[in-house]
Amino acid sequence: MEQVIGKLYVVATPIGNLADISQRALDVLRQVDLIAAEDTRHSARLMEAYSINTPLKAYHDHNEDYQSGVLVEKLLAGQNIALISDAGTPLINDPGYRLLSAVHDAGITVVPVPGANAAIALLSVSGLAVNSFTFEGFPPVKSQQRQGYYAKWLKSPHTHVFYESSHRIVASLRDALSVLGQERQVAMGREITKTFETIKRCSLAELCEFVEADNNQQKGEFVIVVSRAEVDESGSENEVREMLEKVLPIISLKQASQVVAELTGQKKNKIYQIALEMQEGDG
Ligand code: SAM
Repeated sequence: MEQVIGKLYVVATPIGNLADISQRALDVLRQVDLIAAEDTRHSARLMEAYSINTPLKAYHDHNEDYQSGVLVEKLLAGQNIALISDAGTPLINDPGYRLLSAVHDAGITVVPVPGANAAIALLSVSGLAVNSFTFEGFPPVKSQQRQGYYAKWLKSPHTHVFYESSHRIVASLRDALSVLGQERQVAMGREITKTFETIKRCSLAELCEFVEADNNQQKGEFVIVVSRAEVDESGSENEVREMLEKVLPIISLKQASQVVAELTGQKKNKIYQIALEMQEGDG
C-alpha cells in the first residue's frame, strides 16, 4: 500500500495581541502531530492561552539545516506539521526558508494559513501609496551601509517598508533623513496591536523629532514605511508639453496651466512658464 505523506502547514500567529489569530490557525495547531516553533518557550504562551497541547519542536536559525532534514523525514512518514515563528508570518524575516525549500524538493504538500504581519499591518494604515512597494527586512547595522541602502530609494517609484530595532531606530531615522531629505513622507508603526501602540504619519523630519523627543517612542518593535519619490518633474516635462499642445488652442493660457497642473500634480507657475514659451515660439 502506498505510504500517505503528511502536509506542512505554515501558520501565521499574532504580532502582539493574542486575539489576532484565525479560527483555522487554531484548528490546525490543535490537529497537527507536531509544531515546529522558532522559540518553544515563547510559543508556549500562545499554546497555553488557547489550550493547545500539540508537542513543540525547536526550529530556528541555528538548527535549520539539521531540523529541515528531520522534519522532512517525519512528513514523509505521514506526520502533519505546522511551522510557526515567534510573531506574525513565518519566513517573513523569520526562519523557514530551508525547510520550505526541502519540503518542495521532496514533493510534500504545503498549506499556507495566513494572518498577521507587521509590515502589511502598517502599510494598510499608512495612507501612502501601496499598490507597489518593496520590503527588504532590516536595514544594515552600520551607518555608512545604511545610508547606501536608503540612497536606493531617492528616486524610487515604489513605497518602501522595513523593520528596525529599538537599538538603532534613532540613528537609522537620522540616516534616512540625511539621505532622503526632510520632506519625504513616512509612517511609523511601533508596538502594533500591543498596549503602547503608536501609529504616526508625517514627514521624515517630524518623525525624527518625535522619536528623539520621547524615550518611550524609542522602545519596542518598529516598522517604517517611506513614501515613493515625488514625481520627477524634469522627466515629465514632455508629458506637460504634450498636454499643453492639445489644450492651448482651445482655452486660455491661464486655464491651460491650471488644468495641466491638476492633471500632472506639478506646480502651476512652472507649467505657465512652459505654456508661455510654447505660445511665444508659435507667434
Ligand atoms: N514574521 C514577522 C511578521 O510577520 O511581521 C516579523 C519577524 S521579524 C524577525 C521581527 C521584526 O518585525 C521586529 O523587530 C519588528 O521590526 C517587526 N515587528 C514584529 N512585531 C511588531 C509589532 N507588533 N509592531 C511593530 N513591529 C513589529
